[in-house]
Amino acid sequence: MRYFLCLALAISLAHTAGAQQFGGNRPSLKWRQVDSDTVRVIFPAGLETQGKRVADVIHRIARSHTGTLGPVVRKINIVLQHETMQSNGFVQLGPFRSVFYLTPPPNSSDLGSLNWADQLALHEYRHVIQNNNFRKGISKAGYYVFGELGQAAITNIAVPNWFWEGDAVVAETAMSEQGRGRLPAFFDGFRALKLAGKDYSYMQIRNGSYRRYMPDHYETGYLMTSYGRLQHGRDFWKNVTDDAVRFRGVFYPFSQSLKRRTGKNAAAFFHASYDYYRQNWNSPPAEPADTLDVNVTHLTKSNGVENFRYVYPDGKGGLVVLHNSYQTIPAFYNIYGGSRPRAFRMTAPGTGFDNFFSYRSGHLLWTESRYSARWGADERSVVVIYKPGSLNNRRVLQHERRCFSPDLSHNLKSVVVAALTPEQRYSLEILDAGTGQVLQRLPNPENWYYTYPKFTDDDQWIVTAVRDSTGRMAIVKQPVAGGNTETLVPFAMKAIGIPVVQGDTVYFTAAFADVDDIYSVPLAGGTVRRHSHRANGVHHLAVADGKFVFSEFTANGFKLLSMPLNAGEPIDPAANHQKPWLQPDFGEGGNLLAEVRDEGRNVRKYAKGHRLFNFHSWLPVIDDPDYGWYLLGENVLGTLQTRIGAGYNRNESSPSVGGQVAWAGWFPVLRAGGDYKSDRYVNINDTVQVRWNELDWYGGMSLPLRLSSGKFYRGLTLSADFHQVTRTRAGNSKYQFRDNNLQYLDLGFSFSNQRMKALQQIYSHFGQTLAMRYSKSLNNIPAEQFFGRADLYFPGFRNTHNIVVQLSYLQKDTSLRYAFSDPFSYARGYSKPFFQHVFKVGSNYHFPLVYPDWGFANLLYFSRVRANVFHDFMSAFNFRNRRHVTYASAGGELYFDTKIGNVLPFTFGMRYSQLFNDNPGDPSRKGRFELIVPLQQLFSY
Ligand SMILES: [Zn+2]
Repeated sequence: MRYFLCLALAISLAHTAGAQQFGGNRPSLKWRQVDSDTVRVIFPAGLETQGKRVADVIHRIARSHTGTLGPVVRKINIVLQHETMQSNGFVQLGPFRSVFYLTPPPNSSDLGSLNWADQLALHEYRHVIQNNNFRKGISKAGYYVFGELGQAAITNIAVPNWFWEGDAVVAETAMSEQGRGRLPAFFDGFRALKLAGKDYSYMQIRNGSYRRYMPDHYETGYLMTSYGRLQHGRDFWKNVTDDAVRFRGVFYPFSQSLKRRTGKNAAAFFHASYDYYRQNWNSPPAEPADTLDVNVTHLTKSNGVENFRYVYPDGKGGLVVLHNSYQTIPAFYNIYGGSRPRAFRMTAPGTGFDNFFSYRSGHLLWTESRYSARWGADERSVVVIYKPGSLNNRRVLQHERRCFSPDLSHNLKSVVVAALTPEQRYSLEILDAGTGQVLQRLPNPENWYYTYPKFTDDDQWIVTAVRDSTGRMAIVKQPVAGGNTETLVPFAMKAIGIPVVQGDTVYFTAAFADVDDIYSVPLAGGTVRRHSHRANGVHHLAVADGKFVFSEFTANGFKLLSMPLNAGEPIDPAANHQKPWLQPDFGEGGNLLAEVRDEGRNVRKYAKGHRLFNFHSWLPVIDDPDYGWYLLGENVLGTLQTRIGAGYNRNESSPSVGGQVAWAGWFPVLRAGGDYKSDRYVNINDTVQVRWNELDWYGGMSLPLRLSSGKFYRGLTLSADFHQVTRTRAGNSKYQFRDNNLQYLDLGFSFSNQRMKALQQIYSHFGQTLAMRYSKSLNNIPAEQFFGRADLYFPGFRNTHNIVVQLSYLQKDTSLRYAFSDPFSYARGYSKPFFQHVFKVGSNYHFPLVYPDWGFANLLYFSRVRANVFHDFMSAFNFRNRRHVTYASAGGELYFDTKIGNVLPFTFGMRYSQLFNDNPGDPSRKGRFELIVPLQQLFSY
């Protein structure tokens, strides 16, 4: 049992890394493929160039660069998604596949400026190499016994999450001219900790915190894996991971192997790699700057994490900023520093694929996410213009589109956006600021990727940072009226941030040296100048009242600093200004991307019916009281899921076999299945027990819709199923049912609406979930049940507190000839009463108690302890004596939000309920203590 639990933990762990949306693509999409012995790239028609390029890059890596983890090459299926707006990718087992989301990120400092599909190929294919070469020893045994998810589980226990990602970041750095290992901003997190003198333990860094800023496992992983390779050679990690996935030493095999080979366990190795890097971060102290200290929300304590990400002068001596903290959601503020600091909240933006905003003459502009209701892979955005103090002050430009980074012209008539098409054609679009209609699409013969376009003061030009197809960046100015584009900062393989046009000068941040610093270039062209030598990265800047005001990353988040405007010193942006620690040589032969040629691969149609069942794993599934073991299948495009297996219900001691298939390739999701449960039983009274076998065939559909917009995550699901149930008397039963054939209809409705929340907020401050289910027989057996439940979320007395009200109602027929499954959660502390209909109101007050940031043995880590005080009132109508019976209780719950093995979130707790009425069947009971250990949260794959 313990072993299975462990396995399930690790499987959910492996699955949190990324998951394909089930049925996310519309059926009209035509799929193409490039197929070889090494890789099959599957992509929508129209993306032949990208599909062939990805295949060529991967062949190039597979031919010459797999040696550092092992020699095994196994064929991978890669799906290119072209209609998403998030920039991401993943590799998974169960089924073994990879998905690339092709839209490049608008920000170049964080992920880099390389051709996005190339970078995904370098990074994600490293995960393929990892998985292919980790199937050895115990991990291989896991594969044979449990399938792909078994291998995923065991290798994820053996190899820490930081290695998977750190090693992949090393790969993108080793095989290109850039990669995150050459981006100064990638080190801002650890560098900030170093500058603030913060020394967190290995376990703290790995688990993160609700209270303090911690770098993530990509950053930690890169420090450790790059240090390992540079100090101990190319084959170092091959040997360590070989020990780990074979479980040499059984417990903590990865850390033990490190210890054997270097004398340091994982924690000591982390500190050694951090030391190795931080000795490089002492270099010349930054010039003095003033911190702008404005208490924005009156919530964030001085030692808490808060971010001021973007900053603009408001033209009246104040600043407009985007602020968020671990206690508050992002919002725009008008702030004033100086002797009488004060802040005014303007408004809050909805969720977007990018948090950038711009400001011009009293108008704020940003983009928000929009989604196709049914097709999860189809994402859009809208431009929002906000003018405080005006009548219709928030305008959402009509026309959903794919774009980033809006900027308003000085005459307030038009908006420029960096737009892209699913086929990855990029352009600057000039939109009508009133209607959102495209007035102009500026020519882009080289298909540059535009980032952060800005109007010049006369609205005649657009100044923008661009990436070419290899990843080199420049700053250009492009005339709105047509004509030649001029290059202000020449193309080089360096990330450039957000330009700011200030009269005849363009200021911008760039990664020319070891830190993202402030630079400038004259709008008319000329010398590039450097204006700052900061200790840590500048994210965004403004020029206000003769000063630079800028957002710089610290150990407590992005802080606002200011320093006097200066003339700067000339710098050659094409020359190399970076120290050796930012130019690692991993001995992979350098820029592999430059060697990739078009191999002229054949493009063929990819049939949607290709390998539909694709069984990949054979696994235990637990949803107490049901325990089972199932064969799981899913095709690469994620349109058909299959599950066949056997189970056991602990309450009824009843074994079962069954199977289900679900098809999400059309508008409604269709499903069909059958379950045979033997030896079920029910006690009619103290002496009479009925035992029977039950065969349930069912078929139906559901319609999952995503309706999120603005600050709300919203979803609606409708479902309908038809069931044909046949019951036969079990051999050992004296009695049997009168009715052995039942056809019934099962209708479901669920809706959820949740306002976005800050990290420390336990639940949303404003949310509603509503679920209804109605089941009714269609033949002559009277059987009927209705269930409804509403959960309402409200803010509490403090910003991290929540009031949650639960209302539920269940009504069933009184003939007792068939019992539908019971979804009701009864008043806490009570057993199930006898009723025809029952109503419950549960009132809850949730609040955090303490954030321990403490764990032991890298096994269990306590991030937060929180409590809930509740009162339940339940009224059940007993139709035998025709009386309403009240069941009320009150009590408290204590919850521990933990992580298991430094990675997997797991919440457990305990509850005491004081009963104010007689407990059904046990009237003497006045209180009840329960442990809350919801294991099913670990079995959701
Ligand atoms: Zn990765």
